[in-house]
Amino acid sequence: MRSLAELSIDIAQSRCNTRNRAMETLVETLYQRLRLDIVECSLNPGKAFSEAGLGRLYDAGRTPVREACRRLEHEGLMRITPFRGYAIAPLSVSEFQDLEEMQLIFEPAAAALAAERISPQEIEELRALARAEYRVDDKASYREFIRANYQLHCLIAQATRNIRLSDIIANIHIRLMRFFYLGLSFEAHGHTLSNEHIVLVNAIAARDPRAARRKAADHVTRAIARSATMLKGAIRFGEAVFESVPAGNTSPVRVSKPRRGK
Ligand SMILES: [Zn+2]
Repeated sequence: MRSLAELSIDIAQSRCNTRNRAMETLVETLYQRLRLDIVECSLNPGKAFSEAGLGRLYDAGRTPVREACRRLEHEGLMRITPFRGYAIAPLSVSEFQDLEEMQLIFEPAAAALAAERISPQEIEELRALARAEYRVDDKASYREFIRANYQLHCLIAQATRNIRLSDIIANIHIRLMRFFYLGLSFEAHGHTLSNEHIVLVNAIAARDPRAARRKAADHVTRAIARSATMLKGAIRFGEAVFESVPAGNTSPVRVSKPRRGK
């Protein structure tokens, strides 16, 4: 038989658990909303906020704001400066190039593993996602394509059954999506991209790791070649959006930057 003291501890504990669960839900909801707004660039890259300002904008309290922003910082989508506030992570040409380089390192290996481990149901899901393409004159179809592209690459990563590898690839793609939403790849490549996805998925479905590795490498290499030209235009168009390279930074910049005043 439990004593009265034990019972009241149980009740207090259960109230505390309910409060914690409610707080977790608030944090999760705010995190998802903020993440979507950052990824789709509804919140401008580089834009600064105070804690109270973000709370007002999303009708949220200080604790959820703090927790959600901490998670977003961990993903590289937000910057936190102690005692100063928050800023949406700026976009830079070097970040874009780093992300592409990482794709080339991780995605061919992931495709090869996926070819060995993927389930028949995942193959069907991949086939459906690979059919997505966009029309150049239709911005909504481009936004749909960006989502399908993200899901396809993440599903291949999940099919490796390696959670760590899958986390890395998902993070690469969530960060790349911000550049895509800015229209960096809004060019006449809808059909080409869809074909590249289809041959990649066919290689995975044939359970051929070598072919899957090669097709994934081809897809990323071609994407890098396509973006190189567009990036030059985007730097000019988005000087306010793209973070400038700090003076004295010796890291190699593979795209020539426009001269001031041009
Ligand atoms: Zn793709």
